[in-house]
Amino acid sequence: MPTYEFLCLKCQREFTVIMTIRERGEKRPACPDCGSTELESQFTSVVTKTSRKS
Ligand SMILES: [Zn+2]
Repeated sequence: MPTYEFLCLKCQREFTVIMTIRERGEKRPACPDCGSTELESQFTSVVTKTSRKS
């Protein structure tokens, strides 16, 4: 599952939310500290495992 990093614009707290891509479109994450939804999404590079074809 992809993880999304957010930065709260109110309290400058960075936090990580794990959710599916569909949840990402439906839900609006809130800051766990102050509950603000004014967030800036930090795009983290998704760890891609090189799939070896056997
Ligand atoms: Zn906050």
